[in-house]
Amino acid sequence: MSGDRHLIDMRSDTVTKPTPGMLKAMCEAEVGDDVLGDDPTVQRLQERVAALLGKEAGLYVPSGTMSNQLAVKAQTSPGDQVVLEDGAHIYRYEAGAPAVLSGVQLTCVEAPGGCLDWPRVAGALNGANVHCAPPSLVCLENTHNRAGGRIVPQEMVVAVGAGAHALGLRVHLDGARLWHAHVAGGLPLAELAAPADTVSVCFSKGLGAPVGSVLVGDRAAIAKAYRFRKMLGGGMRQSGLLAAACLYALDHHLARLAEDHARATAIAAGLDHPLLAVGHPVDTNIVIVDVDAPNGEAALVAHLGAQGVLALAFGPGRVRLVPNLQNRDQDIPRVIAALGSFAA
Ligand SMILES: *Cc1c(COP(=O)(O)O)cnc(C)c1O
Repeated sequence: MSGDRHLIDMRSDTVTKPTPGMLKAMCEAEVGDDVLGDDPTVQRLQERVAALLGKEAGLYVPSGTMSNQLAVKAQTSPGDQVVLEDGAHIYRYEAGAPAVLSGVQLTCVEAPGGCLDWPRVAGALNGANVHCAPPSLVCLENTHNRAGGRIVPQEMVVAVGAGAHALGLRVHLDGARLWHAHVAGGLPLAELAAPADTVSVCFSKGLGAPVGSVLVGDRAAIAKAYRFRKMLGGGMRQSGLLAAACLYALDHHLARLAEDHARATAIAAGLDHPLLAVGHPVDTNIVIVDVDAPNGEAALVAHLGAQGVLALAFGPGRVRLVPNLQNRDQDIPRVIAALGSFAA
């Protein structure tokens, strides 16, 4: 679409389409058969991401959901207890997979802003008692999606890692948007990843690749995840085509996440309406708008849609807007005006 009435899609940072440069990189990718273990582009991506995150090995998988679930399955046994935050993607949005694929019992702990601290984790862990599911894994999420892209304070992540490891537990970090915590908070990716044994990062969230996540960790955990990936049907053949998009995204779309963050901050700052409020502090690229009206989330999504702005209902009275690679600076005043003209 052209002109200034083009559709502004802020439903998610996953709605991006490959740029011409990314498509070119995909077309030129050297590929092999990754199930036979000889796709050089996939190997390059796995090694690069493992090195970036300071881990021994990496595994390219089709989605963040598969990546998280492989991490759960590789680090638990059926009947184990897994502790995580109540709003965690692994619990809320992965179709009940921990119960089905790993047979684990989740203990979900509410924490302000999704920031799970060690005392809360420690308080939720089952004791060594024949009546209880034995704890084996703690999962964290950074940035926290449901908490509006919140950056979990690193000292909290470090404390959870130390506390869990002292008890012999493993730690998985769902870092679908760890890139955003890195760009907005300034800490190196390896430092953000250090407290966890395994980390999942996504290339289709904000970075603009069409498909793919990478799970990193120690060699033994990744070897287990590799077998389970095959079991779940996640072994892909000439997947270097897709991995090339991820490599391109690391080179060209990582630093620019700062633009998305600035646009999200601008939308939150520009919100001026008696029925609308910013639901969470905007740390990164996600703006949660609370709507004080009956059926407010549907009403606001419909109103914005009529103004050419696509947003997502995100629970009762909540709407999510996620600036992304597809948006432009000139979109922001239009989004602010569309929010400002809401009539319940
Ligand atoms: C989107 C998301 C995932 C899962 O990614 P998919 O590729 O959609 O399966 C996992 N964790 C978080 C925090 C996410 O936002």
